[in-house]
Amino acid sequence: MQRNGSDAEMPWKTFMNEPVTLQALSCADDYDPNSMPVDKAREVIARFLSPVTATERVPVRSALGRVLSEDVISPFSVPAHDNSAMDGYAVRHADLKGEGEVMLKIAGSSFAGAPFKGALAAGQAVRIMTGGVVPPGADTIVMQEHVKAADDKVIIGGGHRKGQNLRRAGEDLATGQVALKRGIALRPADTGLISSLGIGEVTVYRKLRVAFFSTGDELVSIGAQLGEGQIYDSNRYTIHGMLTRLGCDLVDMGVVRDDPALIERAFAEAAGAADVVITSGGVSVGEADFIKDLLDKMGEVVFWKIAMKPGRPLAYGKIGPAHFFGLPGNPVSVMVTFYQFVRDALLVLSGRDPVPAMPTFKVPCLSTLKKAPGRTEFQRGILERDAQGAWKVRVTGEQGSGILRSMSEANCFIILPTEQGNVTPGTIVEVQVLEGVI
Ligand code: AMP
Ligand code: MG
Repeated sequence: MQRNGSDAEMPWKTFMNEPVTLQALSCADDYDPNSMPVDKAREVIARFLSPVTATERVPVRSALGRVLSEDVISPFSVPAHDNSAMDGYAVRHADLKGEGEVMLKIAGSSFAGAPFKGALAAGQAVRIMTGGVVPPGADTIVMQEHVKAADDKVIIGGGHRKGQNLRRAGEDLATGQVALKRGIALRPADTGLISSLGIGEVTVYRKLRVAFFSTGDELVSIGAQLGEGQIYDSNRYTIHGMLTRLGCDLVDMGVVRDDPALIERAFAEAAGAADVVITSGGVSVGEADFIKDLLDKMGEVVFWKIAMKPGRPLAYGKIGPAHFFGLPGNPVSVMVTFYQFVRDALLVLSGRDPVPAMPTFKVPCLSTLKKAPGRTEFQRGILERDAQGAWKVRVTGEQGSGILRSMSEANCFIILPTEQGNVTPGTIVEVQVLEGVI
């Protein structure tokens, strides 16, 4: 497997020209790893991310969702010729009268794909359809609804502007112009645009490879019988879904028991097989200790208690060349920490540039929200339009971090900033939209 290959420039080794450890960075500026602000944790993670460099050529149809590693340059002007935006008649503006009517002779036709041969002479018009090449000599298109045509003559009234209803050669793209920029993930409009340039293949970054597993003695995979006190593993399925939406290559490593030897083996295997390793569970107080010792041995990892709810415990670091995200065990916390920290990091690593932010905007909140100042909260919300068509948000009932249904019902996070206290109905709150994004 092709590796990222940029370890030599890892910022932890070169940041500010001095060797800096992740540990030191994570506590920089006197931030307390036991109460790490969300923004600060994002900032530390961002310093360690170098995008994949390997690329591959793919046919346009397979390129949907892939990240361009080179600009797509237009090999010719689009449109290639001046052409008509309307069905009508191509004329010389000089032949028209300011106000009165004029009769022109129809010299032929120019249909899309079948241009008029020759040039338009004085006193002539050419029947033209949308997309038809504008013949030399013509400079104006008159819509067919604005003329009277009979046999080979057409009568045109006044009030026409020179150049009207014309699409100019090169008005969409000039030869040599950047049609699509490196770093975007291709959408249907983009694959269409590439095809319009006659380009059949594009160069994209290879997919990011992400290995993931769940930790916990209580976990059972679907298909097996539940024993006493056991629960079905759900995190691996939400993680699988979230990674799939981000276009990653997946290595699903199943459930790993809370056994240091098994977990060590899983970490080693995951880090050897992927660019990124994601785990859930085992990072909370009490459980974290043996994972911490293990990772001290295998790489450089920090364990934070983020000043947020849900999702307080979070581990980030490197195991060899692989990035590691240790997410909390609670199912809602997994999704919140994934969207607040992991998503952006994976997009950077995938070569996205710029990384599109998940859209946020401000709306009135219909619910009463309990909120203690001192941490950022990501409550699950339902954003909907009222009878007047105005967008409002309400909370999805119980907000426990184990209640995955709250996430399933939600179409947004209600982001309550650190200093915010309780919210009363009617208060304007910030929402982060998940619909169509996740
Ligand atoms: P932990 O962080 O490992 O202490 O887990 C916190 C809570 O999340 C516990 O109630 C676990 O049972 C639950 N949990 C951990 N991993 C999973 C998982 N993969 N699927 C569902 N629940 C989980
Ligand atoms: Mg556990």
